[in-house]
Amino acid sequence: MKEQLERLIALQEADLRLAESAERKRRIPEMVEAARQPLQAAQTLRDTVKQASETTGKERKACEQALAEQEQAISKLQDRTTKGEIKTNREYQAHLLEIEIAKKKRGEIEEQLLILMDAVDAKKKEAAQAEAAVKEAERKFADEKAALEGSVGALDEELAGLRRKREALLAEIDPSLLRTYEKLKISKKGHALAGINKDGSCMACRLQVQPQVVAEVKRANAIQTCFECHRILYWAGDPVQIVPLPEKPVEEVEEAAETTE
Ligand SMILES: [Zn+2]
Repeated sequence: MKEQLERLIALQEADLRLAESAERKRRIPEMVEAARQPLQAAQTLRDTVKQASETTGKERKACEQALAEQEQAISKLQDRTTKGEIKTNREYQAHLLEIEIAKKKRGEIEEQLLILMDAVDAKKKEAAQAEAAVKEAERKFADEKAALEGSVGALDEELAGLRRKREALLAEIDPSLLRTYEKLKISKKGHALAGINKDGSCMACRLQVQPQVVAEVKRANAIQTCFECHRILYWAGDPVQIVPLPEKPVEEVEEAAETTE
């Protein structure tokens, strides 16, 4: 029964790894989509910055146009003096004031233009940075996507290996024990077996197992289940017994001991 239990433990491990690897494979497309998120965010930012940069560029052009128009208006005003359109001193004073106001307005437009020129430069820089960030995100995404899609092959190989291992174990496990395992596997979400800790508690439900059952599980002569969670129990309290691989002579001694029992 000890061997049967060991095969069951190995089967559960294979089944759990199968489920985990299958889940990892299933999740690859959504992981690719998740890896695409930073790229999409960078593209959205780039588009926003680019649009803002274009708007500022248009504002600057409009301001330059307004400045040219103002220059024209001033020279038109100044022309009036040379054309002799101004007759009296009063008219002349009014004319000078008009020019002064027009020049003041030109000054304001020039000031605004300087601000806009700075803004255009800043936006251009920002747009270039956003574009570089997109390129970087594109490169990173391509790498991540390739790595994720490349892992499919390795996962397929792993899954095939685990399925082979599973088949080999199935052939060596008692059918009725296998049925119990399969039933528990469904109801316990893959964990049909549970180890007993050094302190004598079930590692799945954490409850204390009766000392008598613990002793039985250690002997492993018959299948024992947890009183609380009904999982098949195995002794996991003393790893020293499990870790070292028995050498040939020891195995022979063990087998001899088993037959005498
Ligand atoms: Zn339990």
